[in-house]
Amino acid sequence: MKKMLRTWIQDLGNCLYPKICPVCKSPIRTWNRFLCYPCHKNLAYTHSWKMNQHPMHAIFWGRVPIQRIDALFHYRKNSPIQTILHRIKYHHYPELAEELGRYYGNYLAKSGKYQEVDWLVPIPMHPKKERERGYNQATCFAKGLSESLKIPIHQNIIHKSMISNSQTKKNRSERNRELAQSFSLNPRFRRKNQHFILVDDVLTTGATLDAAASQLLKIKGAKVSIVTLAVVI
Ligand SMILES: [Zn+2]
Repeated sequence: MKKMLRTWIQDLGNCLYPKICPVCKSPIRTWNRFLCYPCHKNLAYTHSWKMNQHPMHAIFWGRVPIQRIDALFHYRKNSPIQTILHRIKYHHYPELAEELGRYYGNYLAKSGKYQEVDWLVPIPMHPKKERERGYNQATCFAKGLSESLKIPIHQNIIHKSMISNSQTKKNRSERNRELAQSFSLNPRFRRKNQHFILVDDVLTTGATLDAAASQLLKIKGAKVSIVTLAVVI
């Protein structure tokens, strides 16, 4: 009865102040969706949380040991996920990242695959860059995940210590070396045998997540998993 009443109130609220689809800007008819129906049906879910190991795990083979990797959507050019990621990053839409985190966290919680995890660790941004943007989209996404998964966020274990200059003239190994040096571990974090989920918006080559995971794995007995909103695969 309570649930019915809540649904009715939410539906009424949605009629009076319709939620707007962040991709196409048309009204969203169903209160519990983050996108309108036509945009939502063009998203490609990975369903990785239903599998023991998704093929995206191969991105890290021979690099760093990662326990589990999950991404909610496959990244497709000119699809709603491209617009979502762009809006989250450049259009001041932190609440969309949080909402997606809550939505996705429910799937991950139901899968039972992250029950043993101690901390969610959003990939840090350089403080100056974060001040300019006003938020870190990975932290916003992690906040939503944290609500659904009931796992606390720790934002002070790894730091981003410098901003890379123009990367255009550097080759891939120079870029990766610079990236690896840009993350550092907080020496004051002393808990051993912890399982961390590194959280980021998108997994592409894995270079950033590799660099951050390498720092966490310096902690004795540490385990690292990765959760992203999208994966380029
Ligand atoms: Zn739409």
